[in-house]
Amino acid sequence: MPIINYRSLQTLTGHCQSIWKIIRFALLRTVVADFDRTLSKYCENGRICSTTHSVLEESKFMPDFYKEEAKKLKDTYMPIEFDPTKTVAEKIPKMIEWWTKGHKVLEACQLTRDTLQHIVADSHARLRNGCQWFFDKLHQLEIPILIFSAGIGDVIHETITQQSSFHSENMKIVANFLQFDEMGKMTGFAGDEIIHTFNKNENAIHSSDYFFNIKHRENLLLMGDSLGDLKMAEGADHVECFLKIGFLNFKVEENLPQYSQSFDIVILEDESLDVVNGMMRAILDLSS
Ligand SMILES: [Mg+2]
Repeated sequence: MPIINYRSLQTLTGHCQSIWKIIRFALLRTVVADFDRTLSKYCENGRICSTTHSVLEESKFMPDFYKEEAKKLKDTYMPIEFDPTKTVAEKIPKMIEWWTKGHKVLEACQLTRDTLQHIVADSHARLRNGCQWFFDKLHQLEIPILIFSAGIGDVIHETITQQSSFHSENMKIVANFLQFDEMGKMTGFAGDEIIHTFNKNENAIHSSDYFFNIKHRENLLLMGDSLGDLKMAEGADHVECFLKIGFLNFKVEENLPQYSQSFDIVILEDESLDVVNGMMRAILDLSS
């Protein structure tokens, strides 16, 4: 049973504000969601699920040199990513270095579209329970969802396609996409800009017309599992009502105070979208 922590319960004023936001959610017009550990599970049956990067790193279809190099890079750069003594500004060049080197190694793997499908099918990446209903309802209600990730866009698209439905009419992924030639062989990465952990607020999407096109959509639901995800909607200046839902998947006691301060609702150690779907059912008055 998920535990929901309403920041609002801490004070009466806060309580009223959050309830008001939830009521305004009835006019929900757009969704921005992180992918890894937000739309995908952190854990299933006691086993940690794969992220879009670890889908590749753990795959039997990937060459050993890729796995070794990816591990070396992770051992080098992950401590920097989480180093509390360094500022984000100090970390950014290191993250760019990490992603650039990682992409270079991946480019040497001669990956194909077909292999990628097998890799995802064989992986431990799992969408949260309830994703199918969530995606279908957003599609039915013509509510756009932007999936914003520092992971591999093709892995996200494939995971959603295999485990749910990808509705191209209202779903858009902004992530690091691979480029394939006409034979389906990977030739590199699409676009010049790398999306890493710390630039989810400033990549191409915000200079693109995405938020301009949804300008009339005032109410935004943001879902993420890290504090950096809060920056995902920084380009959406027109938003009037901004409901932020955080998934706190582990180290709950340590992180809850900060998450409670930053998100309107924090969902603790739950591997489903039941809370979000329940809110949609109740407030949008959906019977099925
Ligand atoms: Mg995440």
